[in-house]
Parts: sequence; C-alpha cells; structure tokens
Amino acid sequence: MSKGKLIILSAPSGCGKSTIIGEIIKNPSLNLAFSISATTRLPREGEKHGVNYYFLSVDEFQEAINNNELVEYEEVYPGRYYGTLKKEIERICDSGKNVILDIDVKGGINVKSQYGDKALSIFIKPPCVEVLRERLLNRGTETAESLAERVGKAEYEISFSKEFDCIVINDKLSEAIAETETIISEFVNK
Ligand code: 5GP
Repeated sequence: MSKGKLIILSAPSGCGKSTIIGEIIKNPSLNLAFSISATTRLPREGEKHGVNYYFLSVDEFQEAINNNELVEYEEVYPGRYYGTLKKEIERICDSGKNVILDIDVKGGINVKSQYGDKALSIFIKPPCVEVLRERLLNRGTETAESLAERVGKAEYEISFSKEFDCIVINDKLSEAIAETETIISEFVNK
C-alpha cells in the first residue's frame, strides 16, 4: 500500500470540498489521513484543538513562522492566518499514510511546487459561478454584501484552477466524490 504521498484539495468556498474530503477519507484503500492545519481563527462550536485545527494565538503563529515550522501559510481572510505544519506532514508520513490537505488555492499551488511528483493537486470547481451563487444563497448564511464578496473571491480563485494537476467539477456531489476517489486511487497506487 502506498504511503507518504500528498493530496491537495482546494476550492472556492461553497463548492463542497469539506463534504468530499469527509467521504473520501473513509475509503480505506486510499490510506489517507487529514493534515490538521494551524490557524489563528477562533474555534467554531464543536471544533477541537488538535482535531479540526491547531488553534494558535497570533504570537504563537508568528513564532511558528520564525522557527520555520510551516510548509506554507496564508492570510486566507483579513487578519486570519492558516498554515500547514511540517511536523504534521512528517507525523502522517511516518505513520505510513498518505496526507490529505484542505488548503486554500494559493497554499495548494505552493505545496505542489515544493513537493512535485510526490503531491497531487486537485481543484474542485462549481459547474458555473451562477450555481455557486445559488448554493451560497440557499445556505442562508450570507448577507448581500458577503455573498458578492464570496462570489468575487470564487471567480478570482477559479482563475488559478489551470495551475492544478486535475479539476473536478462538482455538479452532482456523488459523481464528484467518485471522480475524486478514482483520481486519488490512480495517484496513490501508481
Ligand atoms: P475555515 O476557516 O472555513 O475552516 O477555512 C477557511 C479556508 O482556509 C479554507 O479554504 C481552507 O481550505 C483554508 N485553509 C485551511 N487550512 C489551511 C492551511 O494550512 N493553509 C492554507 N493556505 N489554507 C488553509
């Protein structure tokens, strides 16, 4: 069974990335473990330190940067930093598993450029921006302003999709999950 490979999943918000990761990680033949990132954002209800993220203060995050402990980091939202820890990647590789990373588009391109053939970068894309707008509207969590902001950000991020190894279009969720599994299976078993 293959181990020590990196699978990067990036997508604009509202494209079903977390749902897809939640499903594929359950497939034992892919031998995946989730890379827990460091972040300075506060935990949401139900989130736990060391499970969803390593929740750090801004000072602790800065110290991790200074000590060269991060593979990459980005200010994904104003004032909120997210980064991939070297130790986390090593921990998972040493445990004999492949690493799955849920990181933003810039971070995804960055990790791919560092790991080359050892990494596979997958971009999850909405069928079109109009569908994304509808999905976000149906979620009921957006104001007119935040909706416009998210859609604008999505358009910007989609412009980087060509830099990824593969693009999966999430039109029907079950099909997107199956396609992602097939792509990862081919990569980890090659
Ligand atoms: P959330 O706050 O909703 O959990 O995540 C916000 C965004 O940050 C998501 O797009 C997620 O992929 C991204 N993200 C999470 N961890 C990392 C990381 O370690 N590095 C980068 N660059 N982005 C991350």
